[in-house]
Amino acid sequence: MSKNLFRKELDALRPYVPGKPIEEVQKEYGIDKIEKLASNENPLGPSPRAVEAIIREAQNINFYPDSYAMRLKEAIAGEFNLTHENIIVGNGGEQTLSMVAQTFISHGDEAIMADTTFSLYETSVLNMGGVINKLPLKDYKHDLGGFVEKINDKTKIIYICNPNNPVGNILTKNEIDDFVAKVPEDVVILFDEAYYNYAKVNPEYPETLDILAKRPNTIILRTFSKVGGIAGIRVGYVLTSKEIASQMGKVKDVFNVNSLAQAAALAVLEDEEHIEKTVKLNYESLARMEKYFDDNNLEYVKSNANFIFANTGVHSKLVFEELMKQGVIIRPGFLWGWDNWLRVSTGTIEQTEKFIKALDRILKA
Ligand SMILES: *Cc1c(COP(=O)(O)O)cnc(C)c1O
Repeated sequence: MSKNLFRKELDALRPYVPGKPIEEVQKEYGIDKIEKLASNENPLGPSPRAVEAIIREAQNINFYPDSYAMRLKEAIAGEFNLTHENIIVGNGGEQTLSMVAQTFISHGDEAIMADTTFSLYETSVLNMGGVINKLPLKDYKHDLGGFVEKINDKTKIIYICNPNNPVGNILTKNEIDDFVAKVPEDVVILFDEAYYNYAKVNPEYPETLDILAKRPNTIILRTFSKVGGIAGIRVGYVLTSKEIASQMGKVKDVFNVNSLAQAAALAVLEDEEHIEKTVKLNYESLARMEKYFDDNNLEYVKSNANFIFANTGVHSKLVFEELMKQGVIIRPGFLWGWDNWLRVSTGTIEQTEKFIKALDRILKA
């Protein structure tokens, strides 16, 4: 009875602690209406075209989905002047991150990332027995100079989250170009652009497809979850070189993206109206929150994503609890070691005003 059945890599992993479901919060606090501004979801709801496509496709779910997702890949490729061979689609961008780690990380291989950033980079690499090099943020940004110094023979992947979740700010084209020039060609640079449609409004946001065109060991991650409003059905993808896509194809589950999800994602690509509305509302919501923070001398990081990171000067555990009592759920910063900070997603104007009023009541109490 001494054999350890579990893979030793699991020792380094912790179970994911999900937020409380809305229904539970409603019951516990006796509130009818909860605004969830905690997971960067689309406050306008799903793309209506995606919903129609799902209903139409429902007639065909007796069939297995297209394991290669050819129509979806062709449509994505058309948007970016690539071919279907440059694309891997996943059950959410999340799954493509696992596939990236499975493709490159053997025991002892290293990855470099920021501290603080999206937590899945770390867990996916640790799961494969990889070693993490995390560098503290510098002026709230990835310390790209520090990243370059950390590169060694074992370095396989460098994760760049741009905009960075949970901070929301971008690395500029100049910063990225400067960095890329210093990274050896045999290191994979992964640009996580989950918030691409929001961020590209900023003229300083880099066009990483230009980097991919010259540098094959580059991976660009995007998702339909945020701007498309279809987080619940799970579709994300990476754009990369044909060689990387072909290797990633080997670790892919055969039917990893279901047929409703493929149909929904195709419809989102055609729903420019929904995307435009979403991005416009996002910046209106951000502007209102920034004004509140400015008027009250609260520190925040300029955001080009659909959330904002702010320092309320009060422990986020308390702010989180008190906001919940008033029917607003945010993501408290203590989860990332930023005790007095909170991450709040943008909302409709009503949701935004409700959050601001609730926060104001708490901070003035
Ligand atoms: C939301 C998000 C993703 C991917 O989300 P999926 O819903 O799995 O597509 C990837 N990276 C970052 C930084 C995100 O915030």
